[in-house]
Amino acid sequence: MPLLQLSPQGLYCAVGDFFIDPWGPVNKALITHAHSDHARGGSQHYMCQDLTKPILQLRLGKIAVDSLPYGKPVWHNGVKISFHPAGHVLGSAQIRLEYQGETWVVSGDYKTAADGLSTPFEPVACQHFITESTFGLPIYQWAPQAEVFSQMRNWALAQQSKDRIPVFEAYGLGKAQRILPAFAQAQIPIYLHPRIWHTHQAFLEAGVDLPTVLPLTAAHAKAFLPEAVVIAPPGSSLQAYLPKNKTVSTAMCSGWMTVNAQRKQQDKDAGFALSDHADWPGLLSAVKATGAENIYVTHGFQTIFTRYLNEQGWRAQELKTAFQGDAATEEESA
Ligand SMILES: [Zn+2]
Ligand SMILES: [Zn+2]
Repeated sequence: MPLLQLSPQGLYCAVGDFFIDPWGPVNKALITHAHSDHARGGSQHYMCQDLTKPILQLRLGKIAVDSLPYGKPVWHNGVKISFHPAGHVLGSAQIRLEYQGETWVVSGDYKTAADGLSTPFEPVACQHFITESTFGLPIYQWAPQAEVFSQMRNWALAQQSKDRIPVFEAYGLGKAQRILPAFAQAQIPIYLHPRIWHTHQAFLEAGVDLPTVLPLTAAHAKAFLPEAVVIAPPGSSLQAYLPKNKTVSTAMCSGWMTVNAQRKQQDKDAGFALSDHADWPGLLSAVKATGAENIYVTHGFQTIFTRYLNEQGWRAQELKTAFQGDAATEEESA
């Protein structure tokens, strides 16, 4: 029996008697990162990377959770468990398992390009590699972050010159922290929507060094800094916080913005292709770097990516998980 297998509640290690990113309540859950499609409530006990712990507690409430720094192993029923940087968001981890010479790595979500904030992705050698494939199509190839940041800044300034308020829509865990330097480096004041503010505070309390921001409150409807930008979760209501006489321009920051049709469909004024997932070359380089004999593809364009890997001589198969569905609209999958 393989060390990891798919059960109705998700990826299960029978020897260790634990799950990785289970879909429902279990006894013991190892969590790659705190995005809602990976970290679900109701389990008896959680284990995650140190920086994921405060966010897990923020999102799931009172839970029993142990955390580990990157690279430090623990043993559970003889299975060696360790967390390794996935470069996806702060605290995100690939989980490595080892038992009697058999090694597995569950990537969770990952990106291979450094974002200047989360600990950069580290390839981990293994025999069995479970990879995501959110952007597993050749059209997805990211521009350098500095380039996208400068486009975002220019767009913000252009909106302000038209007396509009630039609002950047970004998911609360990951993108909302990552894009701060785009503005902070240019001394552009940043207002954070209340739904993002708590996550920001939790990271500050955990010792993460983040640029200075201002909480967006109802008081700003009367006193809004005209040179400021707003960062808010996608689709959030801003009416209560912004001056009534001002028009808002909304930009979405997401890998899906590579495709213009997506932007139009979501009715945004602008879109910036900035993703916390690996692009096509990133996925291929990650798979190669593991040296794995067996690749399991999940979470995205798995049929296409699996077929491509097999054509290139890898031994790849699809892992059908509950993460499937419309990845373009899935919460925080961008
Ligand atoms: Zn994620
Ligand atoms: Zn995900």
